[in-house]
Amino acid sequence: MPGSLRRDTVTEEVASERIERLAELAREAVQDGDEERARRYVRRARRIAERNRLRLPRTFVRRTCDRCDVYLVPGANARVRLQDGHVVTTCDCGEHHRYPYDA
Ligand SMILES: [Zn+2]
Repeated sequence: MPGSLRRDTVTEEVASERIERLAELAREAVQDGDEERARRYVRRARRIAERNRLRLPRTFVRRTCDRCDVYLVPGANARVRLQDGHVVTTCDCGEHHRYPYDA
């Protein structure tokens, strides 16, 4: 049915926008020094993705910590270094995130 297909697309767009907005709020919260607030935004965004069966944007995955759910802001609560063509981000909780530099 074209009708339901269209509605799903709109729902998906709205959900994606909310996830992006929550990521922005999470980053601001970290910059304000309020990591607990950042974690709440990150968890909310993950729930939205789950409920709507959306894949989280790659940038969101890379900028959030799998272990403590905080939003990673280099210079505030994360350190970033390059190693063997990979970007390695280290969260304040000790968790490392590693991904190819050019991807
Ligand atoms: Zn962490």
